[in-house]
Amino acid sequence: MGLFDTILLDPPITCPNCGRTLELQTKHFEPGMVSYRIGSIITYSPVLSGILTEDLFCHDCYKAERDHRVDVWLVVWHSILVGVERSEQAAEARLASIDRVDLIRWIDEAQRAERTWRSRFRSFYRDVSRWHEHVHHPEPDDEDGDDTERSRRRSMRAFFSLPKEILDTPDPLATILSNHNETSEESDGMF
Ligand SMILES: [Zn+2]
Repeated sequence: MGLFDTILLDPPITCPNCGRTLELQTKHFEPGMVSYRIGSIITYSPVLSGILTEDLFCHDCYKAERDHRVDVWLVVWHSILVGVERSEQAAEARLASIDRVDLIRWIDEAQRAERTWRSRFRSFYRDVSRWHEHVHHPEPDDEDGDDTERSRRRSMRAFFSLPKEILDTPDPLATILSNHNETSEESDGMF
């Protein structure tokens, strides 16, 4: 079947015949298994600005032997995907209506997404590092020093160790991976 790119829409496109959510995939953009959204810069767009037709396929309607093709119009403006419309007229209107406010919104979304992913990466890296420490440098249960010294070391360990609710699970590394799974958090930002 070859490579394609996926366009993620919010809300997604649904089949006009059965209401099923349809996946929008295209080979228009020098496909490379990339996910695009409205506001994404298309790395290799065949047009700088223009409208591309695409048709989607509804499996449920195909199986039910109904009309199963759904036409969409992809709108590209200065290599940015600015819209996915259901008619040529709507696509023309979208192409003519791009405003600086649209650009600001997409910049805002991209910057928020960048912050979200940076923070998710830091949090994941911290947990994996702590797990690595736990496995390769387990802290000895030392009794040296006075009470104050032992208590200071204990609180340092608590600060740099994985929380008990992770360490007490049968497979802490699996728990870390599950906690940081891409789909485990509701907001993954845009792009
Ligand atoms: Zn359908």
